[in-house]
Amino acid sequence: MKITRQTKNLINRGLDTHIRIGVTGLSRAGKTAFITSLVNQLISSATNDNLPLLRVQQQQRLLGARRVPQKNLLTPRFNLDASIKSLSSTPPQWPQPTRDVSEIRLAIKYKPNSRTRKLLSRTATLYLDIVDYPGEWLLDLPMLEMDFATWSANQLQHLEQIPLPEVKKWLQSVVDLKLNQDKGDGLINQISNDYTQLLLLLKSHGYHHIQPGRFVLPGELAHAPVLSFFPYVAEAKLIKGSALELLDKRYREYQNQVIKPFYKRYFSEFDRQIVLVDVLSSLNQGPHAFNDMQWAISDIMKSFSYGNNSILRRLFAPRTDKLLFAATKADHVTPDQHSNLALLLRHLVQPIWQYVSFENVEMECLPVASISATEAGYVESKGKAQPAISGTLDNGEKITLYPGEVPATLPNAHFWKNSGFEFSSFQPKSCGEGEALPHIAMDKAIEFLIGDKLR
Ligand code: GDP
Repeated sequence: MKITRQTKNLINRGLDTHIRIGVTGLSRAGKTAFITSLVNQLISSATNDNLPLLRVQQQQRLLGARRVPQKNLLTPRFNLDASIKSLSSTPPQWPQPTRDVSEIRLAIKYKPNSRTRKLLSRTATLYLDIVDYPGEWLLDLPMLEMDFATWSANQLQHLEQIPLPEVKKWLQSVVDLKLNQDKGDGLINQISNDYTQLLLLLKSHGYHHIQPGRFVLPGELAHAPVLSFFPYVAEAKLIKGSALELLDKRYREYQNQVIKPFYKRYFSEFDRQIVLVDVLSSLNQGPHAFNDMQWAISDIMKSFSYGNNSILRRLFAPRTDKLLFAATKADHVTPDQHSNLALLLRHLVQPIWQYVSFENVEMECLPVASISATEAGYVESKGKAQPAISGTLDNGEKITLYPGEVPATLPNAHFWKNSGFEFSSFQPKSCGEGEALPHIAMDKAIEFLIGDKLR
């Protein structure tokens, strides 16, 4: 039977598939580096043997990938060119981190290996949309189930436990307010501004559990009045026309005009998601940062729990069926520590995974280095070969070191007392045009995320 060109085109289009992936994580977790590497690895896969554990490349069925214009015209473009430019400058620089949502689209051409698909066409295309968004925005989900008074009481209780003088000072500044008797928004705006500055300061001290998330990463909402409120517990019932009523109103606006549209427009559209976790930096910053990161991760995970009764299912019907947790910057430790890093990440997410209902969501934990900045090797110490990593520090100094052991379970008091962990900030390595960026386990991550769509 002769197949006309038109029919052939139709069949080809029928074989083409589309997948939308969300890439998230708290700020500086490594989202920009991950997306830059993901795109670079796929684009350079036609001429490099850079993804040995990606089955479609292993089986020599990957024909190549290229950037194509994104379909969603309202989302800002992921600035890949700027990232590549930074990495190829002299000396190489890390790309500018994520501050807002952004998107990039790839067309991946491959030879199908399933018998039916092979019969229909010799090649197929997978369109991959990659959307980058701050993990801080996911920390807002619990706010949808709290009114202003409940949220305020929770937040103030949380702040009272933080032993920083700036927190005490801010709490002091609200304790005597009588917002029920006050009118106008002058005072509210000023205290909201102080509250935002306080949240930014907390972040710089390694406290990641920030609410509302948009206050620290406002994206296009910077300076909008909807981001001007703060936790406040009133002494009496809300009086109409008071400053307190205004606070309450802004909180509801934040729920309805900021949190809900994000889940509707982006979150519920993702087929797969990857959550990047910078476990190593938190280990380096000490117990307060690690515990806070653990708490933030557990709240982030609530966004992936879509049991029948969950607020997510009721409001947004999300469809993510695969979820990857990746411990980033694995090149900061020696390869013998990678399995511990994966186990530690698993310990961080597993208890919550078991506790909440993740129906039909497949989960995996992996250590990755999106852009590996070090070389792993050995040094001679006391007549024995010891594992070590070497790289160039931000100040240009070349060093070789053993950064320390990663605990395979959640660190206890003994770990914090005895185990120093040396986390240095390395320059990325220089990389020529058309070359694949050096990485650790990006192929495993890509296989998990889209491998089944390339069969
Ligand atoms: P984002 O805020 O999540 O977009 O974070 P970035 O991707 O900008 O990463 C923040 C910083 O982490 C970078 O500037 C690098 O210093 C570091 N980083 C990210 N990924 C890697 C990696 O794979 N290896 C190393 N050594 N450092 C990384």
